[in-house]
Amino acid sequence: MSSFVTDVMAEVKAKNPAEPEFHQAVREVLESLTPVIERHPEYRSARLLERLVEPERVIMFRVAWQDDQGGIHVNRGFRIEMSSAIGPYKGGLRFHASVNLGILKFLAFEQVFKNSLTTLPMGGGKGGSDFDPKGKSDNEVMRFCQAFMSELFRHIGPNTDVPAGDIGVGGREIGFLFGMYKKLRNEFTGVLTGKGLGWGGSLIRPEATGYGAVYFAQEMLATRGESLEGKTCLVSGSGNVSQYTVEKLIQLGACPVTLSDSNGYIYDEKGITKEKLAFVMDLKNARRGRIREYAEKYAGAVYVPADSRLDHNPLWDHAAHCAFPSATQNEINGKDAGNLLKNGVFVVSEGANMPTTTEGVARFLDAKILYGPGKAANAGGVATSGLEMAQNSMRMSWGRQEVDGRLREIMANIHQACAQTAERFGTPGNYVNGANIAGFLKVADAMMDQGLL
Ligand code: NDP
Repeated sequence: MSSFVTDVMAEVKAKNPAEPEFHQAVREVLESLTPVIERHPEYRSARLLERLVEPERVIMFRVAWQDDQGGIHVNRGFRIEMSSAIGPYKGGLRFHASVNLGILKFLAFEQVFKNSLTTLPMGGGKGGSDFDPKGKSDNEVMRFCQAFMSELFRHIGPNTDVPAGDIGVGGREIGFLFGMYKKLRNEFTGVLTGKGLGWGGSLIRPEATGYGAVYFAQEMLATRGESLEGKTCLVSGSGNVSQYTVEKLIQLGACPVTLSDSNGYIYDEKGITKEKLAFVMDLKNARRGRIREYAEKYAGAVYVPADSRLDHNPLWDHAAHCAFPSATQNEINGKDAGNLLKNGVFVVSEGANMPTTTEGVARFLDAKILYGPGKAANAGGVATSGLEMAQNSMRMSWGRQEVDGRLREIMANIHQACAQTAERFGTPGNYVNGANIAGFLKVADAMMDQGLL
């Protein structure tokens, strides 16, 4: 790292103590940007990096709500409006007990570069709450969403900030949030994406992140003249991204063998089929049960409970060709990365955001495998949100094939932009540098054009 980048990093740590995920995300981007800053001294004198690591606005608020027994709960709500250089703030809302300011700042920071990579006009933001939807009734989730929106509505709007879903925020939650926004503002606008099809949603939006991560893997494999056909794939998580990753893998003739939730994972050596996936979708989206039930239903599948005493995740220790981490941040550490490489994995396409630790990323890059970082590989979700915004503005809906076709094209373009930029800056095959630099350049030029803000 150059001394300039070291100085910026030191300032970030001093100003944002106790936010290790934010430090990790910033460090990775700054390391990639060293050659850019050397070639563009004007970015340095305009203090672009120092400005980019400071959110344009952070909103933090109380969310008080009542459970079904009348008990009162207080959660914390957040919206990080990171950068509006190239469009309205855009990024998901996460409802999970682990949510805190630092985690949302890391996600909002990554979102700026990811959104830029999609080539659509979207700035970066992220938000959410430490509310845990697990075990809550539909009515409790509704009351929470309404309480959350009764503050957030002041800060968002179709031309200002357009949230979407993320962990713990799916179609049900978007419905409750949208309903409350509409009531408070007395207007029906495309203020959220991931909406239901009957009220402004886009076909393929639920599928987009998972499908996109698979399309990105296809593009990486094509550079070596290979395809996904017949490849054994490890997938983590069992939510939105994982489900549609598995669906697309099956369609393309690959063999997904794992899924997980926070309690453990299943390994199905025979492969997760279309029928088994339908069971998982019902289990997770309707019955809201645990992945353990998969192994109870299908003979031959093994359930392994999570063990926090282990220094690695055994899900990543099975023979396979490809891995699609699709649960949460830092789910692949250095040891896991070593296990993946030892077991023959040579493609990693990240559906989740920052699922690999700094040490894990270094191992993938050293081994020169096809490693697609989340910023690029999971950008299909926000790209299709951008397509939903476009359809809302035109008051039109495109067909399934049209949206899927655009998604495929966007993923191919993102892949090409990352590959070409990595090559141009002297690190061919390094999609981390490619994604960070290509994402940064567009935002940087917009900031230069718009003056000191
Ligand atoms: P969901 O809430 O639908 O699913 C999340 C899955 O990951 C669940 O199986 C959940 O298990 C598991 N999980 C979550 N947190 C943890 C944890 N701390 N430890 C172990 N398992 C965990 O979320 P999504 O599928 O939407 O999101 C998954 C990842 O993809 C996230 O990193 C998200 O930021 C990223 N992403 C999502 C996009 C989208 O469009 N939805 C777009 C781009 C990225 P459990 O139910 O037990 O908590």
